[in-house]
Amino acid sequence: MGLVPGLVKGLGVTGRTLLQTVFPGGFKKPIPAPIRGAQTVQYPHEKDIPAPRARGVIALHEGNCTSCMLCVRECPDWCIYIEAHKEKAPPRRAGGKPRKKNKLDRFDIDFALCMFCGICVEVCPFEALFWSPEYEYSEPRIADLLHDKSRLHEWMATVPEFEDHETGSVVKQKTVPPL
Ligand code: SF4
Ligand code: SF4
Repeated sequence: MGLVPGLVKGLGVTGRTLLQTVFPGGFKKPIPAPIRGAQTVQYPHEKDIPAPRARGVIALHEGNCTSCMLCVRECPDWCIYIEAHKEKAPPRRAGGKPRKKNKLDRFDIDFALCMFCGICVEVCPFEALFWSPEYEYSEPRIADLLHDKSRLHEWMATVPEFEDHETGSVVKQKTVPPL
């Protein structure tokens, strides 16, 4: 679409929304009633309460992260940065071999690049990433939208509890295959 037709189309959408806001009854009932029209919240004086499962910010449960890098590989924006080193860990059983464990040195997410697709949260096999509905973390400097592991961990306090299954939904049962 060219520049001028695009501009005209955009102004048309803006004008239509303005009319719907001021005259929610349409042209049949042209009575101004902006309070019933399109909902606009006068942020920051008023605050909208997002749905509990809203994708506001990603929280990291550091203790569950094994530095497997799956989230880094699957992130379409390449905005997760992880560095880790190996540490010796005690054997699982008495007399067993000492183990090696990954220890996180760095876990950053750049929310200036993130497109909130949720792939990292979905693919994490160890329940280390969660969505929080928190959205108030804008910054004057774009570089400050890079949250390090301690900041990502702080968001865990805002992750809502898991809700029960909806009424009427069926909990998946494990079925034993017939012999
Ligand atoms: S939500 Fe999507 S874009 Fe953002 S960090 Fe996760 S995978 Fe990357
Ligand atoms: S996928 Fe999960 S466990 Fe693996 S590095 Fe990412 S957050 Fe950590």
